[in-house]
Amino acid sequence: MAKILIIEDEKNLARFVQLELQHEEYETVVENNGRRGLDLALNEKFDAILLDLMLPDLNGLEIARRVRQVKTTPIIMMTARDSVIDRVSGLDHGADDYIVKPFAIEELLARLRAVLRRVNIEKKVSSNTAIKQKVVKFNDLTIETANRIVHRGDKTIDLTKREYNLLMTLIDNKNNVVSREQLLNKIWGPESNIETNVVEVYVRYLRNKIDAPDRPSYIKTVRGTGYMVREDDAPVPEAN
Ligand code: CA
Repeated sequence: MAKILIIEDEKNLARFVQLELQHEEYETVVENNGRRGLDLALNEKFDAILLDLMLPDLNGLEIARRVRQVKTTPIIMMTARDSVIDRVSGLDHGADDYIVKPFAIEELLARLRAVLRRVNIEKKVSSNTAIKQKVVKFNDLTIETANRIVHRGDKTIDLTKREYNLLMTLIDNKNNVVSREQLLNKIWGPESNIETNVVEVYVRYLRNKIDAPDRPSYIKTVRGTGYMVREDDAPVPEAN
């Protein structure tokens, strides 16, 4: 039975979500205070965390960031604010998905099942394949796949999991355009409700990290379509 931590200070909402989750046979723990919620998240084992954004003592973004420094527990942010910036900053602080209040409980349950399923798949993959250090070379980048570290010359670049997945998806499809939708599907999963402009934000993060100041970006924007990376010696397609 999956054990879910609910950190939410609106007591009626917390209780409602708890009852619905219990009805679905999840084990639940509710905490109304941000700082105590963080303590629980760090010191006990949960299969997923439902995390409110605005909380007394410590806000949800800070909780997500601190949990993510030491744990991979999936986090779904529950936010009343529906702006792209809030959603992106939630994701960037380590949340795996978000849901905007007020939400239908069925939607929350579906998102929860999706993150739990993803974790189970990742666990299976990592136990089936011994972690092998593989090195991928792309133009002047050298990528260590086991620890997601990229080298360009003597510069070492640390990528987040999403930035790494974005880069590797583009490299797997090198010399071809990958659409924003394909990237969303691949990196956030087909069941996420994340909008394609989040992809643009992550491409920007990735460019800031990997691009050299004195040369064009590794990642070309193909207007209206998506993105591509091209090998240095690939033939340049004819302009049309
Ligand atoms: Ca709140």
